Amino acid sequence: MYDVNSKCADDFINHEEILETLAYADENKENVELIDTIIEKAKKRKGLTHREASVLLACPIEEKNQEIYKLAEQIKKDFYGNRIVMFAPLYLSNYCINGCTYCPYHAKNKHIPRKQLSQDEIRREVIALQDMGHKRLALEAGEDPVRNTMDYYLESIKTIYSIKHKNGAIRRVNINIAATTVDNYRLLKEAGIGTYILFQETYHKESYLELHPTGPKHDYNYHTEAMDRAMEGGIDDVGLGVLFGLDKYRYEFAGLLMHAEHLEAAFGVGPHTISVPRLKHADDINPEEFDNGIDDETFLKIIACIRIAVPYTGMIISTRENKSCRERALHLGISQISGGSRTSVGGYYEPEPEDESSEQFDVSDNRTLDEVVRWLMEMDYIPSFCTACYREGRTGDRFMSLCKSGQIQNCCHPNALMTLKEYLMDYASPETKAIGDKLIDKEVLNVPNEKVRNVVLENLRLIEQDNRRDFRF
Ligand code: SF4
Ligand code: SF4
Repeated sequence: MYDVNSKCADDFINHEEILETLAYADENKENVELIDTIIEKAKKRKGLTHREASVLLACPIEEKNQEIYKLAEQIKKDFYGNRIVMFAPLYLSNYCINGCTYCPYHAKNKHIPRKQLSQDEIRREVIALQDMGHKRLALEAGEDPVRNTMDYYLESIKTIYSIKHKNGAIRRVNINIAATTVDNYRLLKEAGIGTYILFQETYHKESYLELHPTGPKHDYNYHTEAMDRAMEGGIDDVGLGVLFGLDKYRYEFAGLLMHAEHLEAAFGVGPHTISVPRLKHADDINPEEFDNGIDDETFLKIIACIRIAVPYTGMIISTRENKSCRERALHLGISQISGGSRTSVGGYYEPEPEDESSEQFDVSDNRTLDEVVRWLMEMDYIPSFCTACYREGRTGDRFMSLCKSGQIQNCCHPNALMTLKEYLMDYASPETKAIGDKLIDKEVLNVPNEKVRNVVLENLRLIEQDNRRDFRF
């Protein structure tokens, strides 16, 4: 039976409840009166239930869809302004004992080169990432209890935080690793991780069992209840995501929101981020073999509907998507993007030879970080390298309550400008720097509080003239 508070995955991601939600959405997808009521509710910026949001997602009425897009854009602006947080993935290891049918790291793939970065290799990669200008990483690894042990992760995190190369520093390490125990989550928290990310892949249990035929990941309930254990272990920033293309997108959408509702109900804090990856070509994986692929229009509508359903949750898009799709997604709700990414194990320090590729998926956006930063600024976005909340201990419910009170705006905008200034001074090409300096001059005037504005101006001066770094609110 559906129970948002239950600790059992079958209850909080209840199959019958999802089917009823989809039936309700189908019945009401052209019910203009109801759709208007839901849109009005969404305008209050307190979010929507999975049922309400599912009605909007199913709605085929063009005029209403335009209202949904407009509202998503407005909510995005209200909560995130024109800032976009930058990050990069760092693949530690592609050893994996699971049999996921959509990922080239599955255990039966005998020809893909298997690699695990040593601490020295991590050091090289991190210096290369710092030299690009990154401050925030997402660690990625397959599941292999013998090779990819918790000790290995803890040592790697320690190594990463310890590297200070020139003015570089990785200030926030997020981690995307297999579901584990409460005790291990506690260790990750103590090691100073930011967000624990785990994609559900699909919320449809039957499909899940087929798509994960072998390995520990086959256990749907253990996987789906991982965020509960992470929270019990003290990690209060968790990142959800599904891999769109594995099952029917409307099913996944309802499941994703039910998962968010469950975390909010059970722990008082919803997901910190939601990622929206789509199935892509990779080594021995052909996305055409999966029946549930979605086109760009549907993908963008999903993003808009998530944006208005969970306004406080950051949304992430990776380099799986190409430039033009990322551009539209940014308008509709995405608040974090990766740039200059490598999806292979290693590859930042030295690109892999083509015939030895260990990539998890093909990258559709191959631009350098400098090019991505410039592109964002040309569209009037402020690329932000801010990690202040995590470093000030503003995580979990402390972060959410700040967010809900609107106070976060007083931190994010100045922090974005100061971290962008650091980037421009240390890593940008002359062309990017010129555009960025102009943008900062303009944007600093938008800091409403005069006292704060003066502090920002002074800090910008110190960054430029005194080589000072790491200012934050
Ligand atoms: S998705 Fe993750 S668990 Fe599955 S095969 Fe790939 S790396 Fe392994
Ligand atoms: S101040 Fe906090 S919420 Fe705002 S950009 Fe920085 S880390 Fe993110």
